[in-house]
Amino acid sequence: MKYTTYLLSGLFVSFLISCNSRKKVNYDLVIQYATIVDTYSGNLKENQSIAIIADSIANIMDDASAKTWTTKKKIDGRGKFVIPGLWDMHVHFGGGDTLISENKNLLPLYIANGVTTVRDCSADISPSVFEWKAEIEKGVLLGPNIFSSGPKIEGINSIWPGDQEVADETELELALDSLEKVRADFVKITDNALSPELFETAVKKAHQRGFKVSAHIPFSLKATDLAKHGMSTVEHMSYLLKAGSPEETSIIKKVVAKELDYASANRELYDSFDDQYALSVYEELKNNKTAVVPTLIGNRIISYLDKDDHKGDEQLKYLGKGLIKTYDWRVQRANKANEKEIEERKKRYNKLVSLIPIIKSSGMDIIAGTDAGFLNSYIYPGFALHEELKIYVDGGLSPLEALQTSVINGPKFFGILDRYGSIAPGKQADLLLLNSNPIMNIEATSDIFMLVRQGNLFSRQELDDLLIDLKKNAGH
Ligand SMILES: [Zn+2]
Repeated sequence: MKYTTYLLSGLFVSFLISCNSRKKVNYDLVIQYATIVDTYSGNLKENQSIAIIADSIANIMDDASAKTWTTKKKIDGRGKFVIPGLWDMHVHFGGGDTLISENKNLLPLYIANGVTTVRDCSADISPSVFEWKAEIEKGVLLGPNIFSSGPKIEGINSIWPGDQEVADETELELALDSLEKVRADFVKITDNALSPELFETAVKKAHQRGFKVSAHIPFSLKATDLAKHGMSTVEHMSYLLKAGSPEETSIIKKVVAKELDYASANRELYDSFDDQYALSVYEELKNNKTAVVPTLIGNRIISYLDKDDHKGDEQLKYLGKGLIKTYDWRVQRANKANEKEIEERKKRYNKLVSLIPIIKSSGMDIIAGTDAGFLNSYIYPGFALHEELKIYVDGGLSPLEALQTSVINGPKFFGILDRYGSIAPGKQADLLLLNSNPIMNIEATSDIFMLVRQGNLFSRQELDDLLIDLKKNAGH
């Protein structure tokens, strides 16, 4: 439904332009003399004027003279670099009904950080998330576009609250029916209490119904098998570390036969990881159109808690006390580690980052995602995406490739590159004006001069005011 609306509004804009070809065209907003970053090639197009009508980019003009058009609002974009709004493809809204309003406050926090689309990978307040999604689409609530999985599919008595717990295939079909009914944008399946057999069936059935499938992978299953059944994204990089060991099949067998515990198995998988073998596995995943959402920032935070406990982070001031409280669980678990375990965790984090060049060689898509929201300690909504992109660059992507993981691979996952992914006529008017060139330095993505969301302009001052309000609301 949503895609049809977008398509129609694009057509409407071109209709308007053709009707007015002899008269002056009236735009709502024109950003003049800016430098457009071509998100596909990395080329810079200087001195461009971006004309916006309603929530769409209506025209890109080399000639910024106002002979053929008028506009309600004009912005001088000289020296600024324009990119599409950023996508964070792995976030959560949750923590129970008492935290609904604190979660709602995260919506403007994403906007203030230049994140104009998020993919909600499920939790326990789905009805509210769908409500916000609809209000944001209508333009009555400020926030990013939300794509949501709705409640994820799990087994009976999973540790995660809010799941759709299924015991067998009949219940699985009913769960998928209900996801169709709430118009979930994709299906998330995790493996805390779901048997590997039912997990595999869930991937197949969701895929057969036309859903994109996002998954955590059960230990006894292989990513390549699930990719054949229609798994679209592997959530979290650690599953690709496991998949990159030539010993994976035999290690799985030992674990299933209870000859090996999980900790030892993970150590064996780590030790036997092989670059060449991993490359062939990732190529196979790529051929099945499976992408990875690395969510590395969380691994880094937990691995280096001994160096930085994040207690003094400025960003904490934007979050409600209830959300901050949900951070305790992972921190307490991590703090139980002894020195050797802490060292191993750091090695493991660096190993995960080192997979990036292998994935890049395989041609598999990396989709930027952070795991921000509740529970995942110090992964600050909005802020974290910039950190995540920087990790990709540290790991071996060029700044352009890192940018593409967010602004291109996000919409590519949902098949809506006709409406997103670049600055061009017919595209959604979600864009950032940056003070410096992100192709030279990815950190430029957080240096936002102005932002346009659904065609509405936010000056730096207005973004700062949003942040000030959020601090006040958080009540620290
Ligand atoms: Zn997650």
